[in-house]
Amino acid sequence: MHIEKEGAGKKKPRFDMTACVDCELSKSRTQVVVGSGSLDAPVLIVGEAPGKSEDEGGKPFIGRSGVVLDEILEKLELDRSMCYITNVVRCRPPQNRNPKKEEIEACSDKLAKTISRVKPSLIITLGSVAAEALLGRPVSMSQINGKYHNWNYDGTFTTRVLTLYHPAATLYNPSLKAKIFEELAPAAFESGTGEAGVTFFSVTEEHTESTARMLARFAQAGDVYVLCGDLGAGKTHLSKAFGAAIGVEDEISSPTFNIMLSYEAKAGCLNHFDLYRLERKEELDDIDFYSQVESDCISLIEWGDKFEETLNAADVRIDIELKCNDLGLLDSVPADEYYRSISFRPLTPRGQEIIDELYSQKLRHGQILTRI
Ligand code: URA
Repeated sequence: MHIEKEGAGKKKPRFDMTACVDCELSKSRTQVVVGSGSLDAPVLIVGEAPGKSEDEGGKPFIGRSGVVLDEILEKLELDRSMCYITNVVRCRPPQNRNPKKEEIEACSDKLAKTISRVKPSLIITLGSVAAEALLGRPVSMSQINGKYHNWNYDGTFTTRVLTLYHPAATLYNPSLKAKIFEELAPAAFESGTGEAGVTFFSVTEEHTESTARMLARFAQAGDVYVLCGDLGAGKTHLSKAFGAAIGVEDEISSPTFNIMLSYEAKAGCLNHFDLYRLERKEELDDIDFYSQVESDCISLIEWGDKFEETLNAADVRIDIELKCNDLGLLDSVPADEYYRSISFRPLTPRGQEIIDELYSQKLRHGQILTRI
């Protein structure tokens, strides 16, 4: 069962990237190579243009340059699961010539949309075409290889750009390859929050439930989880699956009107709060909030982000968001359909322990996205 969003039945028309005829390259390409990887990745990689293998296979960097890119990522202590990969132009130029100015311009709004969607903590450009497209000025790769640049996107957010030689440059020049690799050091970038969190994404309701069950495996008496997200994001859905997994036998219902409901569980007890209807922090006292969260029960607090006091009492902040794959950039979700992004961020050392456990599960749970 796919994730539904209220009112999502009415699809707004969207630009069909695969049918793009914005420039001459559309005449000779086999297909548009959109991008690959997680849209919630902390790192965005921007290459120049698809080559022959990419034009045939439909994904960026799957040919010989891709093999070198993987070696580069290893030296940077990154891997593809931490990156979203795309190109300055999304169609192969004939005979792999450099893209022309007008082709770069025709594709620039697509790159801009990708950047504003991913909001990466680090952008890595490969080669001079990508570096110039991002930095907006002519560059000399021998001078800027391995350099970090502060970069502001359209006044909306600031990130850093690491400019590297294009991997293809190493294919014909072994001494350049040796030099480039010598200069590569682990990538330096700040995560979005400064904390080591983890994000899962759920394409189906079952994925969301399995994420809740996974959290339940590591939950202990006294843990406090704050659940944040818009109405309808899936906070109560996650809470129900979590409660069932820790052995709550009663039906878990939404505590919107009761503010708090308590349940016996095989693994102790569960306090399920919903602070949506509270208006002032003083009302937390009225519901005996502090002694409840300091008890041995596990506490799940929906709308806990309304009050700083609640966040101060929590171990983990869980942000749930429904996102629409409207740009058609995420491979595993049909275009225009919704998926759920569930991010866990530590607020205490105990929270960090839980997140490290969750992160260690990545091989068993295919829906894990990335460390944030
Ligand atoms: N070179 C690029 O710049 N991009 C690709 O996707 C492949 C090769």
